[in-house]
Parts: sequence; C-alpha cells; structure tokens
Amino acid sequence: MPRAAGPCKLDGGQAAPVRTCIGCGSRAAKSELIRVVAAGDEIVPDVAFRLPGRGAYLHPSLACLERAQRRKAFARALRLSAPLPTGKVADYLTVPTAGGTGRKKADLQ
Ligand SMILES: [Zn+2]
Repeated sequence: MPRAAGPCKLDGGQAAPVRTCIGCGSRAAKSELIRVVAAGDEIVPDVAFRLPGRGAYLHPSLACLERAQRRKAFARALRLSAPLPTGKVADYLTVPTAGGTGRKKADLQ
C-alpha cells in the first residue's frame, strides 16, 4: 500500500530546517546540531554535511552523545544491526575550541 506522504514536508513555512537530537530527543535547528553517519565500522561526525548515507543529528555536547549511546539511538537512527563505536564523535566534541593547548583544531576548510 503506497503511502501518501510526499518527500516535501513543509511545516508552517519555517525557513530553518529542524532536526531531532537523538540524544535528548529535543528538536533544534539543523545548524545547531552535528550530523553523524556510520562510516565503515564506526560512527563519525559529518562536519561538512557531505558524507553519504543515512545520517543522524545530535547536539554538539557530550551529554547528548552519552544519552544517545545509552539509548542505543545511533543503531536505531542509522539502521545499524549492531552498535558501532562513537569514539570519533567523542573526539570531535572534546577537542578544545579555544587555542593554546598545543593541539590545533582544523578550522581551515
Ligand atoms: Zn541533544
């Protein structure tokens, strides 16, 4: 039975696309969330929003990452058969944003 829902879901004429954080479950503008995808056998942050495949959205916060892990939300959102390590995402979230620690963040794009 074909479903009537079209691919274009306009919601009250909102300009900014809204996504749901898989960690805390609250909705936020897409620009406030990071996209994560399953790449090979791990989950990586899709910083440039360019990686192919199914993505999930998460607040750039370790609290939401931990919640998502506890809820096995990555596996559900990305349709994985088994949970994948999220170390790269944790790394991304824990990289100090202020300089001066000797570790440089790749800000050049
Ligand atoms: Zn969140």
